Amino acid sequence: MTNTDLDRAKTLIASIPDYPEPGVNFRDISPLLADGAAMRAVTEALIAPFEGQFDIVGGLEARGFLFAGTIAMMSGVGILPIRKAGKLPRPAAAVSYSLEYGTATIEGPDVLKEGERVLLVDDILATGGTLTAAQALVKDLGAEVIGSAVVLELEALGGRKLTGDVHTVFAG
Ligand code: AMP
Repeated sequence: MTNTDLDRAKTLIASIPDYPEPGVNFRDISPLLADGAAMRAVTEALIAPFEGQFDIVGGLEARGFLFAGTIAMMSGVGILPIRKAGKLPRPAAAVSYSLEYGTATIEGPDVLKEGERVLLVDDILATGGTLTAAQALVKDLGAEVIGSAVVLELEALGGRKLTGDVHTVFAG
């Protein structure tokens, strides 16, 4: 990884005002996903504090899956897909959490071994509800969360008050 690649990676996250609804500043990581060197730099930065400390990487649907894939391949571990409700044929656990309007539920498959060390990853940390629910889900599945990592933390939304410590590659 070069700092140039990581610096460039940050510029590849676009801000789209008023999407998907008025008042939301949507962060579109599509240009970052399309740049191989930037993806490698971001993946290395996500892994760095946790090198050798996790047995499996848990990716949050949907964009977290993409980074779970690159982390898994670079670290030689497998992937735990953490899915939105209704997508898994045999969910082993489910956790519901509050959204601004209403609630959402995530589910996980029965693939973790007792005490397995899980690194959680997502693209964006906003209010923290999704990642906090994923932390609880992994515990319900009988494993241990050894860390949580995101590409971009939207600091103004204060998500880490809910999640506890999160490793963030970029803040904005
Ligand atoms: P939250 O539970 O509020 O922390 O939201 C995190 C999840 O919603 C992540 O999976 C993100 O992909 C998505 N998300 C929330 N806010 C944004 C945003 N402003 N731009 C892009 N994705 C977002």
